[in-house]
Amino acid sequence: MTDETEADLTGTTPRRNPKPAIETIGNRRLKPSTLMMGHGFDPVLSEGSLKPPIFLTSTFVFPNAAAGKRHFEGVTGKRPGGAEGLVYSRFNGPNQEILEDRLGVWEDAEDALTFSSGMSAIGTLFLAFVQPGDVIVHSGPLYAATETMIARLLGKFGVHWLDFPAGATQDEIEAVMEQAKAKGRVPLVYLESPANPTNVLVDIEAVAAARDAVFGTGEDAPPIAIDNTFLGPLWQQPLKHGADLVVYSLTKYAGGHSDLVAGGVLGSRKHMDMIRAIRNTLGTICDPNTAWMLLRSLETLELRMSRAGENAAKVCDFLRDHPKVERIGYLGFLKDDRQADIYRRHCTGAGSTFSLYLKGGEREAFAFLDALKIAKLAVSLGGTETLASAPAAMTHLSVPDERKAALGISDNLVRISIGVEDADDLIADFAQALDTV
Ligand SMILES: *Cc1c(COP(=O)(O)O)cnc(C)c1O
Repeated sequence: MTDETEADLTGTTPRRNPKPAIETIGNRRLKPSTLMMGHGFDPVLSEGSLKPPIFLTSTFVFPNAAAGKRHFEGVTGKRPGGAEGLVYSRFNGPNQEILEDRLGVWEDAEDALTFSSGMSAIGTLFLAFVQPGDVIVHSGPLYAATETMIARLLGKFGVHWLDFPAGATQDEIEAVMEQAKAKGRVPLVYLESPANPTNVLVDIEAVAAARDAVFGTGEDAPPIAIDNTFLGPLWQQPLKHGADLVVYSLTKYAGGHSDLVAGGVLGSRKHMDMIRAIRNTLGTICDPNTAWMLLRSLETLELRMSRAGENAAKVCDFLRDHPKVERIGYLGFLKDDRQADIYRRHCTGAGSTFSLYLKGGEREAFAFLDALKIAKLAVSLGGTETLASAPAAMTHLSVPDERKAALGISDNLVRISIGVEDADDLIADFAQALDTV
């Protein structure tokens, strides 16, 4: 950002935040939950309004022609870091920029961008990196629409892929990377952890070590991107473990109220500039109203996620020994040595989304779902309310049977996302629903 002297010389109006954001008190660096209430917004620029207004405009007036030129140098990538001023709402806007500043705070990211959905974030990311003939290396399984995007959409343009199972060791990951390298240029390593719906964690440090061993640490080594929707930003911060880019469906925990759809990408500036250029061209930016709602959501992110996490721990403790329960896939109960080791190194909480395997099959799963009184029967996760669904019959209905079996997506599986209700009320609801099975 230009300082004010430079701004005067070039005729650029200072952007929305001429006063530096308060990030420290003495030696104390303020925590994200404190910064969510003011970071990146100066009320003086908006009539003293405590909260940012929603800026509903398609375009922004330049103070003079020189400023317009300077801003477009940022938009077109002539200068890195994006436009220094507001230009046109397909490129940037005050609400989105405040949101991006605040989102980046959670993971100490150099830069952040927001999108109209998680999938538009992922699609824009891929388009920024891939060329025909490339081979994407990814962990498996991925969110179903992401797998479709890689295999079918990018596949139409001559992009190939190779995957390794989410829990793979460094040696196994290296072997897949070597195979990919022999087939073509590897533009990107793409991860999702924990994997949905298996809850298997990816060893990000092992992936980074494998990438460095196979591709070196030079400029053209493929960046590592990871979908952190299930545990981020509170319980897992992949940039600290060797990832270069972090992807979010902000629809889930970050939005947190099941009332919006949005996405985000955070990471190193040089990679983010490539993604920004594609977003500017496509127009996959988040709209101002949704950005405003997300600003409100971020103020309570830590409160909501902490409470949901505590609730899930209590509910899982109750479900674990219930006679009608076969087993539970919850990160807080990890036994397997390698997975537990990854959990200790990468995660600070077990999240609030887990897999419940009932004794029986579809009949039992459906009876349980239909009997729930507090928990709503709906797909999605990370909202204030508890949701439950049957992946085999819903989100993963079109997955071939043998792949379903390999992923543990059986007819008796119920996926549950715990909200912020009273934990004992939730336990009472699950208890009565299990009684009817
Ligand atoms: C929901 C989800 C997405 C897609 O996000 P949308 O906001 O629905 O586009 C991607 N990845 C994961 C892990 C998700 O849960």
